Amino acid sequence: MTRRRLTAFVVPLVLTGFLLTGGGTTAQSRQPSQSPVDISPGAIRFDPTLPRLYISYGHSDLDLEYVRKDAAESSGCSTRNHEETEEAVVRPGTGHVTLAGVRYELEQFHFHTPSEHRFKGRTDPLEMHFVHRSAAGKLLVIGVPLRAGAASPVDHILAKLAPECGETVALADFDLNTLLPRDRGTLRYSGSLTTAPFTEGVQWFLMSEQTVSPATIARFRSLFGDGNARTPQPLNGRHLTVVPGS
Ligand SMILES: [Zn+2]
Repeated sequence: MTRRRLTAFVVPLVLTGFLLTGGGTTAQSRQPSQSPVDISPGAIRFDPTLPRLYISYGHSDLDLEYVRKDAAESSGCSTRNHEETEEAVVRPGTGHVTLAGVRYELEQFHFHTPSEHRFKGRTDPLEMHFVHRSAAGKLLVIGVPLRAGAASPVDHILAKLAPECGETVALADFDLNTLLPRDRGTLRYSGSLTTAPFTEGVQWFLMSEQTVSPATIARFRSLFGDGNARTPQPLNGRHLTVVPGS
């Protein structure tokens, strides 16, 4: 190999290495911070100094609707796209959370099967996501795993699922507070939406489980035979922080 050829070979390698190690400010590429994640105990930290999440949920009329992602396809009304879901739209002003003085309005909640978040590789049958948005457009999502057990108010929602391509189903004066588990402690991390466009900067607050009847789980699973959950994404060095309930 001549000196010129050696130079032509080595210089691009060095440059590539420089880019990969983030040697320059403009070349530095941040690792993806996607959701959901598989929670390993080693990634959990405890930080009592972080601001608490204050939940203020009231009563709301709900519009239950099937969220379609394949509206352009002729067979879309019978095809279960894995990014589709059943969603309950909440009336504005009926529920919000406050974090560090910032208010996030509850917009909707929806369901996944199996759970999107895992703990040591283990899934739960279902997971509920409560999606909140601040005035500045920042997203905060509360995730609650659903396990088989005693029936709870969540069963009332899942008993009235809207058909795909059908009318929305109205549910009057629902107490949103009863959907969450009694223990308001959370496991917090920074992630993303779990459906397209997978936007990052979403603040995730994972709670302990709520129970629903085995029949409710079977019914939702039969609707989404292949599931509607995204697979876990790499933590890439992120930690999850335990925050006590308020
Ligand atoms: Zn979700």
